[in-house]
Amino acid sequence: MKDVLDVLIVGGGPIGLACGIEATKREVDYLIVEKGCLVNSIYNYPANMTFFSTSVKIEMGDVPFISHNPRPTRREALEYYRRVKQHWGLRVNLYEKVERLERQQNFFTIYTSQAQYHARAVVVATGFYDHPNLLHIPGEELPKVRHYYDDPHPYIDAKVIVVGAANSAVDAALEVWAKGAEVTLVHRGEEISHRVKYWIRPNFENRVKEGSIKTLFRSQLVAIRPKEVDIRTPEGLITLENDFVLAMTGYHPDYSWLENMGIQCSEDHLRLPSRDEFTFETNVPNMFLAGTVCGGMNTNKWFIENSIEHAGIIMEEIARRLRRETISG
Ligand SMILES: Cc1cc2nc3c(=O)[nH]c(=O)nc-3n(C[C@H](O)[C@H](O)[C@H](O)COP(=O)(O)OP(=O)(O)OC[C@H]3O[C@@H](n4cnc5c(N)ncnc54)[C@H](O)[C@@H]3O)c2cc1C
Repeated sequence: MKDVLDVLIVGGGPIGLACGIEATKREVDYLIVEKGCLVNSIYNYPANMTFFSTSVKIEMGDVPFISHNPRPTRREALEYYRRVKQHWGLRVNLYEKVERLERQQNFFTIYTSQAQYHARAVVVATGFYDHPNLLHIPGEELPKVRHYYDDPHPYIDAKVIVVGAANSAVDAALEVWAKGAEVTLVHRGEEISHRVKYWIRPNFENRVKEGSIKTLFRSQLVAIRPKEVDIRTPEGLITLENDFVLAMTGYHPDYSWLENMGIQCSEDHLRLPSRDEFTFETNVPNMFLAGTVCGGMNTNKWFIENSIEHAGIIMEEIARRLRRETISG
């Protein structure tokens, strides 16, 4: 590794790893710095989660993704990314958080929880999964309120409110109901999201039709107490007995961190981080944005399948700039 890296990649998720592969192919000297374990977001997904993509669609670096069924499970994905790292000998520092950086004339100085690095370019591939969209209602801080759903076991025989109506809410509602929970799904809108996976939707709709899972649409949770919740419905305020609230209300990028990096974000509801549409360079020269973080609040815009290609585009641009510098130097 050189004293001044060609590029430091922030985030060891699928897209950070793809950036490492594309850097290797172009002999660009890189380091990936990841604050948690390898593919930390995926590690924290629900234990029984199955991807909506087929494994072939999220393969990278010519490493075959073999799964038992066409759509891989979280566990298979964890094993896959471990093998990708091993196959390519990717340089990833785990459990090291990028905290801040300073921009000098020709390079960045990057300060992490462990060390200090110099790099000519930085790629931000930090995703969005660490920051849940909060409900901002009284009682949200109670331990029975969860913004991440992991496993159905703790909810056996419990009275559970699921907030939200996208895939994560519907999946969680079905799983905990199957283990004996009494489930009410509460959502501000008229119905569940049109994005709910087509092979899940009928199961959910049938459970609702037969009365196994209750739904309250055009309704909002307004207060949470240790043994009950208040919900504003079109018919007025109701109070339900309750043991757990699963707030599956989505996630958002870490805006204060992005702003600390100097990255400007749009002021509309999408809060899009600035990014050149061809090079993926941010408003900070030689700092690039890759993966799901590019979508700002629209966390459905980019996913693994359609953002793997960011890695090649960015590394090609960085390699081109490095070549130009070598020639002019
Ligand atoms: C339940 C669920 C199912 C999904 N299924 C699919 C699917 O079937 N197909 C598909 O294509 N996509 C799917 N997605 C989306 C997909 O998982 C994400 O698009 C993918 O993880 C994005 O990769 P990423 O590398 O951009 O971000 P992430 O995977 O979120 O990686 C970002 C990494 O950056 C690290 N990080 C953040 N800040 C710092 C810092 N300051 N310093 C160091 N490290 C930092 C984080 O710890 C994290 O590991 C799914 C998402 C969810 C939630």
